[in-house]
Amino acid sequence: MPVLESISRPEVVLQGISASQGIAYGQIFVYLQSDLEVPEYRVDEAAWAAERARFEQALVATRRQVQKIMTEVEKNLGEEEARIFDAHLLVLEDQALITETLREFEKTRANIETCFNKVAGRYIAAFEEIDDEYLRERGGDIRDVAQRVLANLLGHTGQRLIQLADKRVVVANDISPSDAAGLDRSSALAIVTDSGSKTSHAVIVARSMKIPAVVGLRDLTTRVQAGDSILVDGYEGAVILNPSESTLFRYGRIQREKRTREQKLLEANRLPAVTLDGVPIVLRANVEKAEEAELVKEYNADGVGLFRTEFLYLGAGEAPTEEDQYASYRALAEALAPRSVTIRTLDLGGDKPIASQSHLFPKENNPFLGYRAIRFCLDHLVLFKEQLRAILRASAHGRVQLMYPMISGSEEMRRANAVLEECRAELSAAGVAFDPDMPVGSMIEVPSAAMSADLLARECDFFSVGTNDLIQYLMAIDRVNDRIAHLYEPTHPAVLRTLRHIVVEAHRARIKVSVCGEMAGDPNYTALLIGLGVDELSMTPPLIPAARYVVRNLKLTDAKQLAQTALAMESPSAIHDLCARFAEERMRA
Ligand code: PEP
Ligand code: MG
Repeated sequence: MPVLESISRPEVVLQGISASQGIAYGQIFVYLQSDLEVPEYRVDEAAWAAERARFEQALVATRRQVQKIMTEVEKNLGEEEARIFDAHLLVLEDQALITETLREFEKTRANIETCFNKVAGRYIAAFEEIDDEYLRERGGDIRDVAQRVLANLLGHTGQRLIQLADKRVVVANDISPSDAAGLDRSSALAIVTDSGSKTSHAVIVARSMKIPAVVGLRDLTTRVQAGDSILVDGYEGAVILNPSESTLFRYGRIQREKRTREQKLLEANRLPAVTLDGVPIVLRANVEKAEEAELVKEYNADGVGLFRTEFLYLGAGEAPTEEDQYASYRALAEALAPRSVTIRTLDLGGDKPIASQSHLFPKENNPFLGYRAIRFCLDHLVLFKEQLRAILRASAHGRVQLMYPMISGSEEMRRANAVLEECRAELSAAGVAFDPDMPVGSMIEVPSAAMSADLLARECDFFSVGTNDLIQYLMAIDRVNDRIAHLYEPTHPAVLRTLRHIVVEAHRARIKVSVCGEMAGDPNYTALLIGLGVDELSMTPPLIPAARYVVRNLKLTDAKQLAQTALAMESPSAIHDLCARFAEERMRA
């Protein structure tokens, strides 16, 4: 790492949110994204038609530009990354946005850019108010594309590209997906932003370009000065302004270690996940879209352990039809056959209401304890049956498993299965093919399901433990409230005992247990979960190499011993430290 000759300003360490892994160091390039100035004027009657035509032309021109970016992104990054811009094309086709703009024009006769700016602004504001982080970010997509339309209307032809003359760390108040996609990978060392979250599309692009990124730094752009240098730690979500020589030295070492480790893990990722004493452990992937099949294969996963199907709803302007869903499930099942694909039925509600169907989700005081997942589906049988039929039909084209989220006990499971049975009967009567032996399981996320696991197991072919929710409900810690996030402890004795109980009861009933919450992807807990008797772990694909490495370097007998020791301990942090030491030793192997 080069060390600047004179570092006059003092070192400042700032904590943000880790958005894309990696370490980078360099001089800053400040990029302040600001909305375009829109002049307002009245349009005379003679020019009304021309004004409407100008709007249409701007939409067409914007569409062409977005498609050009998509082609570029597809060429440089891949099809999946290019799909991010689908959302932009959808905005350009949004009839409501277009009609409202024209209505505003009819009402006010103000120039069309003023009308469009007003209407788009209302849309953006509505999205920004939504509690769900993912949907809030979609407001960012509208802003991005709206700025493009305005630029075309105003005759600003120049692309708003971040032009880096040299290798620099981009420090921005915010960054749009088009900005991120337009970055030159060889000169953008890292991206740090005042705002943003892990799920923003710009961050997704950064991650796929393997550019380190830290977001949520609040007022960083106002704290930096020209000539400042910055060190970005995308692993820990920290940035260090004007780092001292000793900091640079320390990070140089960390970077070398991380690179060597990542290389080592990737090399071992083609090998089977078998423990040193010869026990195979199933490692599966969590996905949100059928297009992730390639990633599942790239990371050598044993299929999909959790397909979060609600993202088909969350990403779209309208609810997907049975055919849309069938196409998506079938594509994934076919792409991954003979590996199995576990499709979870809709987990809408809680922090994931559907914007396009907000009337179905009345505002609740405790949405996580409310109208969510299977509770919502059993109350909307038309919608539920569409999904069940789509899953059944896809089961004829690969190895499909189905599971329900948020099941509270055996009766609810039976109710869901009765609806599934109706769907089977309907398909049989219509002569439509499906796999009659498709395994059907329950997620274990509600403490009542865990405590009655023996009863529930009788109705299930498998269990899949959603630790994200199970821990939230077990410990009464709202999983999206950052004020109490520190109280969320996967190694609390209550969590370990509950997991153990679930495994014992499942195995007594001769069914398998998977864990698909975030805990399953944390290499610190790989051995603990295996030692507790968990049969399968499912995680976001890039986390698989670390889990596999730990599996390949442990003995099942040692993992069991670790779990026994942990079960006898009291302190969550001491249990965590014990697990972390165990994992670190295996990682060093
Ligand atoms: C979980 O709760 O652990 C889980 C996997 O489901 P989600 O995170 O989608 O609620
Ligand atoms: Mg859950």
